[in-house]
Amino acid sequence: MTLALKRKTGVAELDEVSQRYPDVPRLIILKADVQRRGVHYTEAAIKLLDPARHQVTGTHIFGTRDGVIALRPESLLLRDGSSIITTPTPLDENPYVVDALDNVPWLFDRGMPLEEVEYWPAPEFYSKTSSSGVPMKNIVSTRPQRLNIFPYRYCTFWNNGNGCAFCDIVAQMKKGGKELNIPAKLDPVEVGEVIGEALKEQGRFSAVFLTSGSIVSGARPFDDEIDYYIAILKEVGKHFRTAKYPSQLIGTAFEKSQLQRLYDQTGLMSYTANIEVLDETIFNRYCPGKAEWIGYQEWKQRLVDAVDVFGPGRVNTGIVAGVELAGPHGFSSEDEALERTLAEAEDLARQGVSTVYIVWSPRPDTPLSGCKNASLDYYIRLARGLHNLRLKYRLPIDHDGYRHCGNHPDTDLSRLLPLWGEKL
Ligand code: SF4
Repeated sequence: MTLALKRKTGVAELDEVSQRYPDVPRLIILKADVQRRGVHYTEAAIKLLDPARHQVTGTHIFGTRDGVIALRPESLLLRDGSSIITTPTPLDENPYVVDALDNVPWLFDRGMPLEEVEYWPAPEFYSKTSSSGVPMKNIVSTRPQRLNIFPYRYCTFWNNGNGCAFCDIVAQMKKGGKELNIPAKLDPVEVGEVIGEALKEQGRFSAVFLTSGSIVSGARPFDDEIDYYIAILKEVGKHFRTAKYPSQLIGTAFEKSQLQRLYDQTGLMSYTANIEVLDETIFNRYCPGKAEWIGYQEWKQRLVDAVDVFGPGRVNTGIVAGVELAGPHGFSSEDEALERTLAEAEDLARQGVSTVYIVWSPRPDTPLSGCKNASLDYYIRLARGLHNLRLKYRLPIDHDGYRHCGNHPDTDLSRLLPLWGEKL
């Protein structure tokens, strides 16, 4: 390949960013870029997918970047064990390509093989059905080391159209119901039954994870959401010998008394309430349901209150990185977005709350479809910035790190670099 041709390719961009940040492992930079650009699976790559051995797409509460539900790998593993959680993307959006090379899946960019990848292995319980006859994989799904429970596939912020501008949960629920026969709301007892079956595969899973759409109803707003989580977590807890078990809930930002109830009555060990974007004006515009029911400043305060309940290093918030730059209402430059986002993240970090990011995938059934996400450079600078805040304020992120989650390039850095080490 000539230098002139190489300059035009994504490989060249990857090389340039890798050279600019020699302190960030190249596989993490590649992972962030695959999340940023998405993937396309060739027919040969799909032929390597064996539903008896591999996880196939299906049960997630959010949709894909090409808007299609089809037989494809759930996601990818890199040779260092890092998960790449990414989504099938139309070819005209310039995704990475997964193709077969010597009968093994590889990541390609514009015809150049970059890295061998693995499809996520299917757990043993995926071939079984629950006592009510539902395939167990439609009740509890998995990541390489985590059990996922998505118990409610709707979000009541959409009742009056105030769902988040990057969210396709409703479109995905309709597709999931029609094409996959996934229940919109799970029975807590049935969830417990499947967790019990999953845990028979010894040594496979390191944590239980629970998330759903927000439920505004109840004596106090969101009481019904809390009650539902408590019922599920109690059923899950029956399969552990200890009162607390490795677990994470991503829920709405609850009042302190609600959080205390959640903590006291279940085995839950960590709590995440995603603020989605760290700017009040953009939050009000892109997360109008959260703004209507809670508000930006109150959301932050509830995160800080949660540290009193769950303890330092057990509370964090997620942002959908890239939406802060989207459309006419976003920040006008990546420098400004980075500065403002990290300043807000630091305000939370000094009060014991970590911030993690996911790379925003603009999806078709959302109000922000058609917008672009940010540059690779931006995502690496953001990962370094958030990691450095955890170093500065001594905030462990194990509950949302590479092993339990695998969706945050910033927390991948905690795996490889000592938490109390030198700043990047
Ligand atoms: S809180 Fe926002 S992103 Fe989450 S499910 Fe509801 S509308 Fe979607």
